[in-house]
Amino acid sequence: MGLVVYNTRTRRKERFEPLEDKKVKMYVCGPTVYDFPHIGHGRSYVFFDVVRRYLEFLGYKVTFVTNFTDVEDSITKRARELGKQPLQLANEMIDVFLKEMDRLGVKRADVYPRVTQNIDEIVEMAKRLVEIGYAYVVDGEVFFDVKKTGGYGLLINQPVEEIIAGGNEEGTSTPVDVKHNSYDFALWRKSKPGEPSWNSPWGIGRPGWHIECSAMAAKHLGPTIDIQGGGMDLIFPHHENSSIVSQACFGKPFAKYYIHNGFITANKRKMSKSLGNFITLREVLRKYDYEVVRFFLLKGQYREPLEYSDKEMAEAEANLRRIQASMRKAVRASAAKSGKGCKEAERKLVSKLVQAKNMFIEAMNDDFNTEEAINTLLKASECIEEFAQTCKRFTSEEAGQQAEAICKQFNDIMGVCKKL
Ligand SMILES: [Zn+2]
Repeated sequence: MGLVVYNTRTRRKERFEPLEDKKVKMYVCGPTVYDFPHIGHGRSYVFFDVVRRYLEFLGYKVTFVTNFTDVEDSITKRARELGKQPLQLANEMIDVFLKEMDRLGVKRADVYPRVTQNIDEIVEMAKRLVEIGYAYVVDGEVFFDVKKTGGYGLLINQPVEEIIAGGNEEGTSTPVDVKHNSYDFALWRKSKPGEPSWNSPWGIGRPGWHIECSAMAAKHLGPTIDIQGGGMDLIFPHHENSSIVSQACFGKPFAKYYIHNGFITANKRKMSKSLGNFITLREVLRKYDYEVVRFFLLKGQYREPLEYSDKEMAEAEANLRRIQASMRKAVRASAAKSGKGCKEAERKLVSKLVQAKNMFIEAMNDDFNTEEAINTLLKASECIEEFAQTCKRFTSEEAGQQAEAICKQFNDIMGVCKKL
């Protein structure tokens, strides 16, 4: 059985078949850069890093895009509190983000588009949507009409009428009765004092959040992508809206697969700024080695909540150290090719490692089940420890190389062992 992925749009697991053979176009929504990344960011970007690594292991050429939202109310507000210019704060937070992701072993994206560097593309897209009748202008602001396309609400699986009945789209200064429908969202907004702003056919302003990702994804990956990824909190309205904007503009579906990861919890409650129970990555990385943090973030099934506590971290650390120690033993044993024969034991070990690799692939093929994949690594570790008790090294070069290659493949995908 090949890879199957859970698609938020269809709410079921589907066979993974990219649009183009052996190529995958992935867009993972990046942060709004107004503060230090928290551990929830860590979960999302580490998980999608493993998705990318696994797709590469399967032989796909992956093009990976992560954007930075570097103009937004939250940035202007925070910059004012700190006595900084909004763009200065955004640039500082982008640097922090990249450094912390590097520490977590997250591979760099192929492109990191920034909203402020893609204003022309966003304006062009909004202009086109007005021209073809999916968007309208009200007093210097442009709104997307959620009723025009007929496809709104597919991602959240809710009829458009119900969504509209739910109230006003957040973050717009325009009163609801000015818009055609309460949930019509801004593609272009009038700027407020002190905000970065640009000229547009509708006056000085700045883009609305959702169209930014539609425009940046189209620029770097084309009108239809394979995977749109992000945390579950992005399903609605962000992914619903950026997807409909793109579809309305190009007349094609935005993404084939929508993949969303779950939250981090503390005492079984979602970590969030408003509850005051969140922890920044900086703090976590001060307390724990980055490999432990990465391992912890992968130890559950990605759609489930993941509980953060000192106890959970300690358990993750103990398990990771066992895996690391045994894999290093296997690699060392492979490098030393002399000594007494242990032919039967090494034959047994290689066969168990091949079995473990198959189980690992089976787990990852089942919607990137890193929880099961880690259980397989723990079993493989036991086999290596058993081997190491009686044999210090491989006598057959081929067996040694096989064992080493399997351990390295595990690590290429999970990235939890800096040095093997
Ligand atoms: Zn986005």
